[in-house]
Amino acid sequence: MAVERDTFFDEWERLSVGARENFLNGRLRLQIRHLYDHSPFARAVLDTAGLRPEDIQTTADLARLPVTRKADIIRLQQQNPPYGGFLTAPAADVERVFISPGPVYEIQGSDTKWFSRALWAAGFRRGDVVINTFTYHLSPAGVLMHEGLRDCGATVVVAGVGNTEIQLAAMRHLKVNGFIGTPSFLMALIHKAREGGLDIKKDFYLERAWFTGEPLAPSVRTALEKDYAIDTCQAYAVTEPGGVIAFECPAKSGLHLMDDYAVEIVDPQSGRPVEPGETGEVVVTPVHNKIWGLLRFGTGDLSSLITEACPCGRSAYRLSGILGRTGDAVKIRGMFVVQREIDIIMAEYKTITRYRLIVSRIDQRDRVKLEIAAAQNPDNEALKDRISRDFQNRCRLKLDEIAFVEESSFQEGYKKIEDTRRWE
Ligand SMILES: [Zn+2]
Repeated sequence: MAVERDTFFDEWERLSVGARENFLNGRLRLQIRHLYDHSPFARAVLDTAGLRPEDIQTTADLARLPVTRKADIIRLQQQNPPYGGFLTAPAADVERVFISPGPVYEIQGSDTKWFSRALWAAGFRRGDVVINTFTYHLSPAGVLMHEGLRDCGATVVVAGVGNTEIQLAAMRHLKVNGFIGTPSFLMALIHKAREGGLDIKKDFYLERAWFTGEPLAPSVRTALEKDYAIDTCQAYAVTEPGGVIAFECPAKSGLHLMDDYAVEIVDPQSGRPVEPGETGEVVVTPVHNKIWGLLRFGTGDLSSLITEACPCGRSAYRLSGILGRTGDAVKIRGMFVVQREIDIIMAEYKTITRYRLIVSRIDQRDRVKLEIAAAQNPDNEALKDRISRDFQNRCRLKLDEIAFVEESSFQEGYKKIEDTRRWE
């Protein structure tokens, strides 16, 4: 059985880019038809835009519809309780209702087969004993991960959040080799173990950890993999559209998109799609959900799309990672730039102690100056060239000037991105 499943996943992951696109667009067309016929919300969105279901043939056509936000879901559910016109099936078909802050009532039928791809890619298999530390009530993470793990064949230790001492004891008694949760909770467990005189590497059996819900900081990943010999994988999940949107493969260079959603990266102000490689807001339309009729959900998260082939052989396009929230982005020469990306670049330079990106506007053109304070080797041209290249590669941003400045010029609470442009 394991062999059959392996083969299936392998073939599915390696589907040609064109075949995957056709599959996704086919799903999208069926979904739009289904939503139009069954969801008052979706029907109103299309009617208001003056569109018929058949006008939406591909993901690109979705740009003709408005972006729906969490506040819209809350408002619509209050106006039209309990589900706000998003329900697209008889109420008796609703298997579960989750309650997220708002409150928002999120409904699900049972379809976790595809979601388990993400856990399968991370290496979870039959014979593994995995502690699931996501909460099992109100929000979907606990139940979803549980079902995904079962679908991979693993045994699940139903832990939920908190009770670190009980969790640590169970991890030893049950020889738990997998962890599911947030990076900070795993680090808390590791620290707690150390307080009790135990070493996570020697006294436990943990081989792999899978995270979602918060970003995995590169330094935390390095510590887990190098110091504690725990392999790590992360996924990007959003509860409103229904769960895991993208997942890491063993190449760990971006997150492959699931085939249950049409995912767009858009300009957060206009809702128009941006080019692959450019930063924008992740907008998600479920294309395989016969219960919950959400269209173009604006996540508020920033990412960019990687369309180049992944070394792992999976053909699904990748998200570069979550770079921040839409409020964190500064638009420079039509491109969104996020502080977190610059932090990642600068972290590579151990001698640089502080930086500041100053954006100004001269002669109707955005000008970008990077000021840096370095512990040694000031004014090194080779260093400047390297930093310039990194900005081009990661942020697609051409720096006009790099200047070395005294560390004392950075005052307490200084802004790393200083936007001095005035739009008058
Ligand atoms: Zn890959």
